[in-house]
Amino acid sequence: MATKLLLTFAICRLIVTVGLTLDPTELLLLGVDAQLSVDPTDVIAASLDFGLLTGAQPPLAVMHPASSQDVAQLVKAAYGSNFGFTVSARGHGHSINGQAQTANGVVVQMSGSKGGSGVASGRKPPHPRVWPQERFVDVWGGELWIDVLRSTLQHGLAPKSWTDYLYLSVGGTLSNAGISGQAFNHGPQISNVHELDVVTGKGELLTCSEEQNSEMFHAVLGGLGQFGIITRARISLEPAPQRVRWIRVLYSNFSTFTRDQEYLISLHEQPASQKFDYVEGFVIVDEGLINNWRSSFFSPHNPVKISSLEPNGGVLYCLEIAKNYHESTASTIDQVFLVFGTSGISFNVLNSKLWLMTEMQEVESLLKKLNFIPASVFTTDLPYVDFLDRVHKAELKLRSKGLWEVPHPWLNLFVPKSKIADFDKGVFKGILGKSVVPLPHVESRIEDDERGGWVVW
Ligand SMILES: Cc1cc2nc3c(=O)[nH]c(=O)nc-3n(C[C@H](O)[C@H](O)[C@H](O)COP(=O)(O)OP(=O)(O)OC[C@H]3O[C@@H](n4cnc5c(N)ncnc54)[C@H](O)[C@@H]3O)c2cc1C
Repeated sequence: MATKLLLTFAICRLIVTVGLTLDPTELLLLGVDAQLSVDPTDVIAASLDFGLLTGAQPPLAVMHPASSQDVAQLVKAAYGSNFGFTVSARGHGHSINGQAQTANGVVVQMSGSKGGSGVASGRKPPHPRVWPQERFVDVWGGELWIDVLRSTLQHGLAPKSWTDYLYLSVGGTLSNAGISGQAFNHGPQISNVHELDVVTGKGELLTCSEEQNSEMFHAVLGGLGQFGIITRARISLEPAPQRVRWIRVLYSNFSTFTRDQEYLISLHEQPASQKFDYVEGFVIVDEGLINNWRSSFFSPHNPVKISSLEPNGGVLYCLEIAKNYHESTASTIDQVFLVFGTSGISFNVLNSKLWLMTEMQEVESLLKKLNFIPASVFTTDLPYVDFLDRVHKAELKLRSKGLWEVPHPWLNLFVPKSKIADFDKGVFKGILGKSVVPLPHVESRIEDDERGGWVVW
């Protein structure tokens, strides 16, 4: 009864808003399962995103689906409508330029339907279902990656490929690519999907994979939400590591930095013991600490001033690498702290049981092959979940200062390998390194991808 009332209310609001452009009887075809909301809070929220740049017109209504069928009913109605209305999937709204918005139609709010306003009937999307033997998990398209992680960890498993930030939806990152420091090893997130359920533009519900409806599978993965709405994804898992040794080393010479990063990436086919589990990098362009907003790596009590490291052209390059490990697989020794001096690498034993001799030796032998600035090695050791969820900590800090919900004019670029040196000269050194005005929101994060291109964030 409550659902019917809500639907009637939604339809009345739609008539008021669009006059007779949209035939309300067509919306009745959505059926009572569809959870449409015209609550101003929902509608305004769906017209905003992380970028806060577009000032887009709000949608006519927002749907909070509880199942693939809800989504299929809505899209079918839109497809069959004589007047036409648009439908857009929205995950967690972390796009920059209104990619998940639609003005004269309905936004399907895939994330947050588990308890957000507008969920009148109490129906909720399915929870993640882990298949421990098969090592995959079936998840709702709007599930946040942090919740996928929490579910799989209950079985000692975790997805293989990540984004730096976990409060993004599965459908949202699979519509892009999902890239982080694991991509050189496992590929981006879209390369770690076994199967999808997709609602097509006609409102059909298709299961697709490499073998079944493969055109749709490949179109939707990285398809920017334009080929269908992902309602379920089957994601590949691996045994979850327990801890991570996280290391940053610095360079003043760009070609040495890129050579070392390419070398580490070239090891992707080697056994786990002969490579790192995570490789990224970033450019440091100001005089501050070698922390950035994505992660508080260094203690404020131990500040590292860029100026003390003689940057070349005003910038330094930071190679960021990590080694995963299991506490249970080797006998623990006292925690050791890596100390790197001009004479090479040595290990100092500290006082707790964390770091394992085998991993220590593996890290040491990999680091010996790199040509970073001596004495510029910084390491920390933390639980695997804390490493993966590192950006959230920074988010909380920025939120507390009112610096999270601000406009984000971000630009992510793929630069071909042949042009990355020009990019360094022109942009990193030529613009950022010479800037006399503080650039509060500028960050240059770079990762090599295994196809010979550079991803610049
Ligand atoms: C702080 C921060 C850190 C980030 N770090 C990384 C990173 O390390 N690596 C990386 O690759 N990206 C990163 N991103 C970018 C991020 O992956 C994309 O912006 C992603 O689209 C956001 O997901 P979302 O759930 O918020 O999607 P939304 O913004 O809600 O939607 C994004 C696009 O996906 C479509 N879409 C959403 N859900 C579905 C679905 N179920 N089916 C089909 N299409 C759908 C939408 O229509 C839209 O076109 C970061 C973004 C932020 C804000």
